[in-house]
Amino acid sequence: MPQNILDISQANATLSSYKSRDGLSVEALLDEQLSGGLTYNDFLILPGYIDFPAHMASLESKITKNITLKTPFMSSPMDTVTETDMAISMALLGGIGIIHHNCSAEEQADMVRKVKKFENGFIVDPIVLSPDHTVADVKAIKERSGFCGIPITATGKLNGKLVGIVTARDIQFHSDDSSALKEIMTTDLVVAKKGVTLTEANEILKTSKKGKLPIVDEEGNLVSLLARSDLLKNQSYPLASKAPDSKQLLCGAAVGTRPDDRERLALLVDAGLDVVVLDSSQGNSIYQLEMIRWIKQTYPKLDVIAGNVVTREQAANLIEAGADGLRIGMGSGSICITQEVMAAGRPQATAVYRVSEFAARFGVPTIADGGIGNVGHIVKAVALGASAVMMGGMLAGTTESPGEYFYHEGQRLKRYRGMGSIDAMNNKGGKDGNAATKRYFSEGDTVKVAQGVVGNVIDKGSIRKFVPYLITGIQHSLQDIGHKSIVDFQQAVREGVVRFEKRTASAQLEGGVHGLHSFEKKLFS
Ligand code: IMP
Repeated sequence: MPQNILDISQANATLSSYKSRDGLSVEALLDEQLSGGLTYNDFLILPGYIDFPAHMASLESKITKNITLKTPFMSSPMDTVTETDMAISMALLGGIGIIHHNCSAEEQADMVRKVKKFENGFIVDPIVLSPDHTVADVKAIKERSGFCGIPITATGKLNGKLVGIVTARDIQFHSDDSSALKEIMTTDLVVAKKGVTLTEANEILKTSKKGKLPIVDEEGNLVSLLARSDLLKNQSYPLASKAPDSKQLLCGAAVGTRPDDRERLALLVDAGLDVVVLDSSQGNSIYQLEMIRWIKQTYPKLDVIAGNVVTREQAANLIEAGADGLRIGMGSGSICITQEVMAAGRPQATAVYRVSEFAARFGVPTIADGGIGNVGHIVKAVALGASAVMMGGMLAGTTESPGEYFYHEGQRLKRYRGMGSIDAMNNKGGKDGNAATKRYFSEGDTVKVAQGVVGNVIDKGSIRKFVPYLITGIQHSLQDIGHKSIVDFQQAVREGVVRFEKRTASAQLEGGVHGLHSFEKKLFS
């Protein structure tokens, strides 16, 4: 046997003792005495041994004691990130959306209800106009959203009596933009009754050769819409997050911790809410502890995600009060200026590790919230013990995020704002007051101190393509590190099998693209 093979097998025997492995254990990496607080960019995970195809890696993970998702993704409760469309798509793709509360309780409950009532293929929140709207209104919608098959109801709203439909053909040669829609709309309607299956509706669309099929209830009120174009691209969603009994999509929503939030929560529960997120920038407060206890008493089956926290002491109080999951992060968000202004917070990698390691002893899953900017950050958050990640900026600027696209210097953009920005805090938020001010305990302040900014993000297309990219990216990362599932990976980190390395400033430069005159960074195809 050649000498070098003998040497390697001897060396391997020594390496089987984890203590002598190359790189650092997670405890050594996060030793604050040595290196202070770390962010995701401050370290790397050393590769392991590959013995399985990437697509086999399971991303199943818990977000609370009782809820397990097929993908560890949550969308932030922010008014430029999560409303109905985002929550539906997140759930279809195996994650969950947390509907924001910077609106009236009724509006928020309505969004939750739409997610719970969603059936794949049906548009539950179509744009609707009234007979008194004009051709100009339809043209404006076409300009903005690219379509113009618009149902017309007597009230101009969903659930109003369906009286007509306006299609591209109705307005194509109509030169007078001020004409009322009642003069030009098609009233000879092909409709389907509520309860129709997707296959039946598909057949009706095929035989009628129409582009849109309004779905109406017994009284002829519009309840949803089916589009031929959607049917053609209709996919199946094997990872979808669904309630085991009802098969409805899972939906979360955020509330504050003040007395009127109890009434808000009652409406959300009535709409079918699966998990509530207590939305405070600093969660360790008497208000939150009382709110957790009250929810656990009033709705024992509703899972509560408490937070935000960044220390074990904060976490301990919330766990003791009954939290089913914890949201970690203070000052790490992309739109956030909390650390700058409040001098309070913690570098996110350290916060995730410290809190997750502590919460795991009590079986409480954690969510790394804020500062996720790429696939690698997600893998690192999971490595440090988070069961899931919450994303704002990563999902803002997608087709499913609220708001309209606009052009600036040739780029297609959408607005993305911090809930602690002056802009968000000045939003009235319905009769219940403003959720953004409550999140930062600033309701009574005469001077509002911003903890966030307003910005713009580039059009990222639909999350129906973006989230599958995140999934595949994480699977390849797990393959490189040598673990077939998130659960195995986290176990291997705890046992010291997975090893880490700190990154110096120059290592970070080396790890990025460098030395090129120019380049295009296309992330997936
Ligand atoms: P991102 O994913 O890095 O963009 O961070 C999103 C997270 O930032 C949210 O889930 C919130 O926890 C947090 N956040 C939202 N608005 C603000 C703000 O105005 N100031 C500080 N943090 C914020």
